[in-house]
Formats: sequence, structure tokens, C-alpha cells
Amino acid sequence: MSGGPLRFPAEATTPTSQALIRWLTDDVLFHYQRCNRRAFLDLYGDRSQQRPPSDYLLKLRQDSNLHRQSVLESFQPLSRPQFATGNWVDGARATTALMAQGVDVIHQGVLVAPSSLAEVQLVSQPDLLVKQPGWSCWGHWVYAPIDIKLGKKPKLDYQVVAAYHAYVLSRVQGVWPATSSLALRGGQHYPIDLDRLVLKLQDILSHCLQDLRSTQAPELFISHSRCDMCHWFNQCYTQAQATRHLSLLPGVTPARYQFLKQHHLTTVAALAAANPTYLAHLPGFGEQVAEKLVHQAQAMLDNRAIPRSAPHVPHGFPLWPEDLPEGEVELYFDIEAAPDQNLIYLHGVLAVNHRTGEETFHALLAETQRQERQAWRDFLELVHAYPHAPIYHFCPYEAQTVRKLGQLYGTPNRHVNALLDRFFDVHKCITEGVTLPIESYALKHIARWMGFDWRDEGANGAQSICWYNAWAETGDRTYLDAILRYNEDDCRATYHVKAWLAQFAEPFWEQLYNPIG
Ligand code: SF4
Repeated sequence: MSGGPLRFPAEATTPTSQALIRWLTDDVLFHYQRCNRRAFLDLYGDRSQQRPPSDYLLKLRQDSNLHRQSVLESFQPLSRPQFATGNWVDGARATTALMAQGVDVIHQGVLVAPSSLAEVQLVSQPDLLVKQPGWSCWGHWVYAPIDIKLGKKPKLDYQVVAAYHAYVLSRVQGVWPATSSLALRGGQHYPIDLDRLVLKLQDILSHCLQDLRSTQAPELFISHSRCDMCHWFNQCYTQAQATRHLSLLPGVTPARYQFLKQHHLTTVAALAAANPTYLAHLPGFGEQVAEKLVHQAQAMLDNRAIPRSAPHVPHGFPLWPEDLPEGEVELYFDIEAAPDQNLIYLHGVLAVNHRTGEETFHALLAETQRQERQAWRDFLELVHAYPHAPIYHFCPYEAQTVRKLGQLYGTPNRHVNALLDRFFDVHKCITEGVTLPIESYALKHIARWMGFDWRDEGANGAQSICWYNAWAETGDRTYLDAILRYNEDDCRATYHVKAWLAQFAEPFWEQLYNPIG
């Protein structure tokens, strides 16, 4: 690979009305890959509109720093260029001075190279620049970049940034590094495929430079998986709600949204009036998705639940009574885990006795890692005490975890299989049976629409991970109490949703058993 500049398509160099960007950093490039609007707002947005980081985000940053420190320890001694934060010119000068001296490892050096646009400089700040044998403009040594990432997997956006470091470095030292790698969690060093990634980088960089020279923020698109952790969320979400943006409809993915726009279906009302048969022919849709999307828009418009249609079953409704069995006793089950410690620390079970009207919550808790096995045994004992009770849970995680714990602690397969036969996934029933006027089919959105509320406003899965961490660090039981309250509420919410769904399904089931009356 030669050290020459990357070439960009012609449109990237076409001047726009206003070009504000002067420095394109690897950080901006990283966020651009996840959301072009985020990169734009990070550069030009009003920072007072950013929301403060959540406890979970702070925990991730803390974990990331710990990982970083542990990697850096294996590269001592480190040289670090001295410059004021954000002063890339001084940073680049100090870094090239260290490179020219031939120091072994540079931590957070600054590399600057011209882009294809005269007014924009590319700035790369790899975590490490490691000296290797070879020939560069400095003499008989070259540097290779390493980025330290908390993730266990070499995600594509990490790899593209690693290719960016290699590219900018090649412009600074006059030769491409032999490798560019990621230091991942778990001690793994992942060398990227530079030839492949540089082609990808070329494309992304070209679009990034083009988008970030615009005076218009890119259109928002709320996708909870990427937006929930974004500091612009409040601003984007408020705007999305005010405009009833289609991305708030479950099932409208970025790819499907492009097709909907091409067909001028850009409002909830337009989508609600669309013909599902027509939509079904669009790429990535199909009959089921098309019906779901149109129902979703209709449900939103009228704030009502709409049954999924099922022409192949006699009562025209996809759920059968055996999907939601009633027992004298029913169990509602929810697990809490600390993924970073690979620990399942809580089996919460709400036992509902319909004969006596009693509702009892059981918290089978591992206060430390060593108690995980005992908590598992306690759980097995409890569910065996109600051998005929159906066990309701929300999403596949509980069933998957029960299988995993069974294997880990040597529970006979036949016991685990018999237990799993009693499991019923309320989430699956809801999504297969009905369309609701909600933005997401997460438990919180569903149960809240049905009138259930959690006692702690800010409680959620990510927060409970932080609480368990805080409990482990401080021994303060108020954190454990908060987790138990949240877990119990999740079990009660699952019960609430199951009861609502059974009531919703009742007229269809009556028709099934009494088709004439
Ligand atoms: S909230 Fe979502 S759409 Fe808005 S900038 Fe962040 S990631 Fe992008």
C-alpha cells in the first residue's frame, strides 16, 4: 500500500454554501458511522442541549478507563506529547518531534494530514503509536497504531477508525504501517484487514466530509438501540415526537424508511391509509411486515390496540388459549444479571394464587459471585414447589439463562427440559397477537400503555447493573433494595400484560368455542 492520498468522488469536493468544519477527528468519524446527525450536532450543536451521562454510561466509561490502564501497563515506558487540549497544531508538532526522536511508544499522539478539501484537516489520535523496524521519513523505524476498545468484538466502526489512523499516519511518516490493530477486552489484539478497510474508509470519509459541510443537520431517525445512549437524545426525541416522525413506529427501520419516503409515505396518517398489499412488494417488507406497519400507524393514529390477523386459524386471531394457559397458581419470572461479571444474581418470581388471591414475591438472590449456585438451587426448589404452575416471562432471555445455568451447575437435562416446557414468553404472544400504539415492544412501553407503572421512575436494566456494582463496592443494602423493587415490578408488569392480553383475546376465544352464538 503506498502512502499517497486517498481519492474521493468528485461530489465530495464540491463546495457547499458554508463549510464550517476545519478538523475532522477520528472521534467525529466514529460517531458519524453510527449516526450522521450525531456527528453534525457534536460539531455544531448547542452543547447546553446535551443531556448529562446516565449512571450506566459513567460506569462504561469507568470500565473503559480500567481496561485502558491495564493495556497501557504492558507498553511502559510511554511518551506523551504535551499540548493544550484541542490544540491539534501543537499536538501534531509535539508528536512528530517524538516520532523523529524514535521513542518506543507514544500515548495519545496527534497525527494531522490534509484531506481532499483544502480547508479541512484530518486529525487522528490513536491510543498508541508503537515503533517497529522498517523505513520511514524518520529513518530505519516506522510506527504502527493501536486503539484500545472496551468491546470484546472488533466492531466494523472500530475497524474503520483503525484504518483511518493508519491512513493519516501514512501521510505523516511517508509510509503505510504494516498493521493497525485493536486492543480489545479480554486481552485480544485484533489486526485489521487494512486493504479491505481502507476501501471502506474511503467511501465513509467521502460521505462524512460531504455531510459535515452542509448547513443543515441530517434528518433524525430514532433507533432506541443507538439513540438511548446518545447525549442528543432529548433534543432529537422531542423533535421526533413533535413531528410524529415515522422512526417512532416499531418496525420502521432506516432501510424501510427510505422506501417509504420514495413512495411519499412520510406521515403516520399516510402510512395508516396505505394498502398493505402494495407495501408488501417493497424490498425488505413482505406481507407480515406490511400489515404490521400499517396496523402500527393505525394504532398510533387512533390510540387503540389492533388484533393481528390470522386467516389460517378458525377464529381469525393468532393466539390460542393454550398460548396463555391459566393455572390455579401462576409464576411470573424475571432474572437480573451483571454481564461484566458473568453473574446471574437474581431470580425474581411472583407467585399469583388465583384461588386465594395471594400474590407473593420471592427474591432468590446471590449477594456475591459465590452465591450464584445457591440462588439457582433455591430457584429450582421454588418452581418445583408449584409443579403445575405455568411460568411466564418476557423475552427469551430467561429461558436461555435457565438452560445455561442448568449446564453450568450440572442440572440433569430432563429436569431443565421439563421446566422449560412450563415457560411462556409473554413478549412473543404480544407481538404475534396484537399491534399496540407504542414506540417499542419493550416491557416498559407495553405495560405503561396498559396502565401499569414502576415504583422507581429511573429504574431499568442498565440502572440495575449499576446498582449491583454499587452494592458490591459499598455494601450499602439500599442498592439491593432498589434492585429487588425493580425486579418485583418487572414481574408484576409481566403479570399485568398477560392479564390484559388474555382479556383482549377472550372474545376471539369465545367465538372459537361458540361460533354460532
Ligand atoms: S439521538 Fe439518535 S438521531 Fe439524535 S443524534 Fe443521537 S443517535 Fe442521532
